[in-house]
Formats: sequence, C-alpha cells, structure tokens
Amino acid sequence: MSRILIVEDETKIARFITLELEHEGYEVRSAADGREGLTLYESWRPDLIILDLMLPRLSGIEVCRRLRQTSDVPIIMLTAKDDVSDKVMGLDMGADDYMTKPFAIEELLARIRVCLKKHRPDTHAGAGARTAGKLRIEPASYSASYDGEPVALTKKEFDLLNYLWQHEGVAVTRDELLSNVWGYEFAGDTNIVDVYIRYLRQKIDDKYGIKLIHTIRAVGYMFRHE
Ligand code: CA
Repeated sequence: MSRILIVEDETKIARFITLELEHEGYEVRSAADGREGLTLYESWRPDLIILDLMLPRLSGIEVCRRLRQTSDVPIIMLTAKDDVSDKVMGLDMGADDYMTKPFAIEELLARIRVCLKKHRPDTHAGAGARTAGKLRIEPASYSASYDGEPVALTKKEFDLLNYLWQHEGVAVTRDELLSNVWGYEFAGDTNIVDVYIRYLRQKIDDKYGIKLIHTIRAVGYMFRHE
C-alpha cells in the first residue's frame, strides 16, 4: 500500500484529504509546515508527497527544492490560487504536477494514481509477477490472469490477494488484513474482509475450481497453492 505525506498548514484541508486518501486505502501522514514535512519525509519515506506552496517556516518551493537534491519522490503541489508564476516555479523545482485549490478530490486521486504509476520502480515486464498453477498476477500493473484469460479484480481485491500471496503459507488475521490492505490503524469491523474474501473466491477459486484461499478457523485466511 502506498504511503502519502501531506504537507499543508490548513488543518481543514489536510484533514479532508487525509480522510479521502485513507478511504482509498492509502497510508497517510500529514505535516503542518515545511520543516516538519522534510523531517517526516526523511523518517517515514512516503511514496508520494502532496505539498502546499504557502507554508509556514519553509515554503513549499523550498521544500521541493531540498527534496529534489536527494530524492525523486513524486510531488503534487497545491496552490491557493490560480497563480501561474507559482506553478511554473514549482514545476521548475521538480514538482510532478499541481492542483489549484479548491479542487475536486476525484481529480487529486486520479493524479495521485498517475504519479504513483509513473514512479513505481518495478514496472519492467515480469518484475514481481507471481504464478500459482495457471493463476498469474503482476503487481506492477495490477493485472491478473488465469490460463491466459484476464481475471477482472478491483484494486482492493487485487491488494487483498497480493497481500495474502506475499504471505503464502502463513495464516493472516483479519485485523492484519484490515490494517495492511485497508489501512485502518486500529481494529475495526472485520466483516469487510470476509466480504472481499468471498468476492475473490467467486472470481478465482470457485470459478476455476481451485483452492488457493483457505479459511483458518479462529484466525483468518491463508494463501496456499498445492
Ligand atoms: Ca497554506
């Protein structure tokens, strides 16, 4: 699951973006000024940064400039108004994209997906691909197939399958799945895990008459390929 750092001093906006991103399954942290943003970047190493330009202590432009000295982490800038010179300066400093406030959250989500995809390190063909019998998944492109035929999985279904598969042969608890696949930091309603497991089984196990996702009674689930 991708980690996203929000550097934004307007708490309402930071909170709103945080909730939306968490809802999408991202792991999110936020910093309220430029210095805190840089510190948090160093310690937490997020996969993407949403960076407001008007920040106390250290401006967004300066944060961007310093980040670019050592890192090519994707940066999406937020500008308060439609100020062309700010955008140009931000892009010159190496930001990947920008959004003008106020913006539609869907548009920010779309741009985040594009940025993350572009920067994903293992997009080379076959990198990270896994097979179990005739089932094959390619995490880099979120694609799955069975005997060459595409298996249509939603992002969440894919993440769940991928997580279980990464822990092949290990019983994974519902709470662990909730926190790692859904990004919930504390134990919540685990019914959603069972619902998605059912979807996965319908699309894979039941459909192809195989058994990959096993229920481990009183624990959770396990991916195992005989
Ligand atoms: Ca601001």
